[in-house]
Amino acid sequence: MSNDPHANAVQQLHQVAELLRPQYADQADRFDQAITKLSEPDRVIEAELSVKMDDGSTKQFQAYRAQHNNARGPYKGGIRYHQDVSLSEVKALSTWMTWKCAVTGIPYGGGKGGVIVNPRELSTGELERLSRAYVQLVADHIGPWQDIPAPDVNTTGQIMAWMVDEYQQALQSKGQLLENPLATFTGKPVMLGGSEGREEATGLGGVFVLEELVAKLGLRKQDVSIAVQGFGNVGYWFAYHADRLGYRVVAVSDSKGAIYVEKGLDVAKTLECKKKFGSIAECMCVDGVCDPSQGKVLTNAELLELPVDIIVPAALENVITAENAGRIQAKAIIEMANGPVTPEADEILAKNGVVLVPDVLANAGGVTTSYFEWVQNLQGYSWTHEEVISKLKPLMVKAFGEMWAMREQTNQPGRMATYMTAIKRVVDAMMLRGVV
Ligand code: GLU
Repeated sequence: MSNDPHANAVQQLHQVAELLRPQYADQADRFDQAITKLSEPDRVIEAELSVKMDDGSTKQFQAYRAQHNNARGPYKGGIRYHQDVSLSEVKALSTWMTWKCAVTGIPYGGGKGGVIVNPRELSTGELERLSRAYVQLVADHIGPWQDIPAPDVNTTGQIMAWMVDEYQQALQSKGQLLENPLATFTGKPVMLGGSEGREEATGLGGVFVLEELVAKLGLRKQDVSIAVQGFGNVGYWFAYHADRLGYRVVAVSDSKGAIYVEKGLDVAKTLECKKKFGSIAECMCVDGVCDPSQGKVLTNAELLELPVDIIVPAALENVITAENAGRIQAKAIIEMANGPVTPEADEILAKNGVVLVPDVLANAGGVTTSYFEWVQNLQGYSWTHEEVISKLKPLMVKAFGEMWAMREQTNQPGRMATYMTAIKRVVDAMMLRGVV
C-alpha cells in the first residue's frame, strides 16, 4: 500500500468521508457522488515526449499532467522531474493539491505534472527542449483560467521561463493573442513576472506554522530542537528562517546523508559550505565556523529518529512508514514534503501521541504565494517583498488555527482535522455548482 501513492490518497479521502458523512445526512447521494468523483482526477494527459539529445539521437520521456478537480477554481500545481515519477504519484499529488488550495482558501483546484527523468543527466539544452516538449503536450489544456503549472521537485524558475515562452509561441501560432502567458505559470523568475518572496515562500510558510505549533504546545522557542530532512528549496528556507527566529536547527540532510550538531547549526553558512564541497557531510557549521569535529554524520533515516522536539521531512514521500514510525522520538512532525508519512505510519504516530501538521497545511505557503503571483500578473502590477509576506502570514496562521480547532473539536489527528475542513470546502463547492 505505502508504495502506491494514489491508493494512499484515496484511502485518506474515504477515511475523511466517513467523518464528514453525518453532516450530509439529508443529501447522502450527492455526498457519495462527490467522494466517488474525487477518487479519480477529472482528466489525465499522458504521452511520451520525443526530445532531441545533444549527440543527435532522439530520446523518449514519459510525461503526465493530472487535473484533479476544479470546483473551487482552475487546476493548480507543479511539474516534477524525477526518475521515480509514476502515474499513481502524479494522480496522488494532484489530489493533495486540491486539498491544499482549499486549506488556505485560495481560489484554485488541484493539478500536478511529472516527467520520468533524472534532470541531472541532461544538458541545459536537453532540459530546455524537454520542457518545451512538455508544454506542447499540455498547451490546449492550460491557461490562467484553466490550469496553472508551477515548479515542483527539480523544476526551477528557468524551466518556467522556457515554458512561458513556448506557451506564448503556441498561442501566437493559433492567433490567441488575448491569453496571458505570464499568468499561466507561477514560480517564474522575478525578472519575468515572478513574485518577490515566491522562492522562500514554502519554507517560510512552514515556519509561520512552526511558530503557531510551538505556542500551542506551550514550548519556548529557544528550547526547541529541530531536525530537517532535505536541503533543497523547501528544506533550506525552512531551516534558514527557523534558525533566524532563534530555534535550534540541530540536523539537516541532503540526498547523500545528514549532519547532526547538538548545539545548533548556522544554516546560511551550511548552505555556503555545501556549495563549496558538493555535499553537507563536512558542513558542521556553528556561528560562522565549519568544522566536522563539531558534530557527526548520520544517514537520512537516522535523522528522523533523533531525540529532537520537531522533525521536518522536507524531501520526498514515504520516508516515515510502519517500519520506522514507532521509533520516532519527536513530539511533533511538520510535513514540508508532499506525502512523507504513510497512512499506516499515521496511525502509529497518533497512538504514540506525536502531533502531526500535514503537508497540505504545512507546505501551502508555496502555492499560496503562487496565487499572489497570478494575481499580480493578472493586474499587471507587482507587490513588494514585504507586501507579499504580510499577505502570506495571516493565511497560514488562519489555516493552522482552523486545523487546531477542528482537532480539538473532533479529537482527530492533525491530518484528518485538516482534510475534514479542506474536503468539506471542495464538496460544498461541487454541490453549489450542481455538478453532483
Ligand atoms: N509544487 C508546489 C506544491 O506542491 C507548488 C505548487 C504551485 O505553486 O502551484 O505545493
